[in-house]
Amino acid sequence: MKTMKEVKTFRCKDLGLECEYEEKAEGENELMKRIEGHVQTMHQMDVQQPETQEKIRKAMK
Ligand SMILES: [Zn+2]
Repeated sequence: MKTMKEVKTFRCKDLGLECEYEEKAEGENELMKRIEGHVQTMHQMDVQQPETQEKIRKAMK
């Protein structure tokens, strides 16, 4: 059964950033879409870089 979607949470604090930003979404890919604008403009992180994406995905809970 695939009726339940996993809700993932991301917090900038989990990346060691001094930021109160927090976002939730259904699934990692949806969450990535929602947070990329924030991390790019607020933290100058390039989410196109595999290294950076990996780091962000690991911080998701
Ligand atoms: Zn932030």
